[in-house]
Amino acid sequence: MDIKENLRDILKSIRELEKKSNREEGSVKLVAVSKFHAGEEVLKAIEEGQLLFGENRVQEAFQKFTPILSQNPKVKLHIIGSLQSNKVRDAVKVCDTIESVDRISLLKEIEKQAAKLDKNINILFELHTGEESKAGFESVEEIKEALDLLKANTYPHINPIGFMTMAPFTKDEQLIRKSFVSLREAKEHLQKLYPMFNLSELSMGMSGDYKIAIEEGSTIVRIGTAIFGERDYSK
Ligand SMILES: *Cc1c(COP(=O)(O)O)cnc(C)c1O
Repeated sequence: MDIKENLRDILKSIRELEKKSNREEGSVKLVAVSKFHAGEEVLKAIEEGQLLFGENRVQEAFQKFTPILSQNPKVKLHIIGSLQSNKVRDAVKVCDTIESVDRISLLKEIEKQAAKLDKNINILFELHTGEESKAGFESVEEIKEALDLLKANTYPHINPIGFMTMAPFTKDEQLIRKSFVSLREAKEHLQKLYPMFNLSELSMGMSGDYKIAIEEGSTIVRIGTAIFGERDYSK
């Protein structure tokens, strides 16, 4: 696996897709998803200039990124996986953004832990748009409840910046596109209702479907396999 070459290829492809979709150059950010890959592999990506990473399990993220962050202050980490309340404390120590906020009760815990560190945390609301996956808020109504709490300044250390989704695991492009379109429409709807927040981020697209996602307005793609290779789940 040539991580550096893969990164260059992916970035080139992202820039080409931005152009093709009449998107501004640089409007799509790449989160390099390093789950199941070692710290040394992350360092190779950093040498190539990649500064934004994603991990979906807090314990792994905490162990891998604590040393990396202390030596590379420009590196930023997004938590992208389903988050248990008792893991929020460690998550908040290493990440600057939690992309996978999927329930209102999580906000209280994020606020509590972020306040202790006197740190602001960006969040994305994960919306369930696919058929099979269970992750995410079930409805836009529930996200409104969360935004109402934030609007009332209940959680001053939490900064909502947009939305995230996982498309269904299928080869059916129509279904994948439908999922991305519904996230974009949810964003447009909620941004109108909550002009006091900048909810411009749309985190959608992975190794297999990021091209469709960029066409549909993604601003963050989360790519693992196409950069670091297949994951060895037996480790
Ligand atoms: C693992 C993971 C990714 C990256 O998936 P690839 O198919 O390896 O690019 C993206 N988003 C989430 C939430 C993930 O858990």
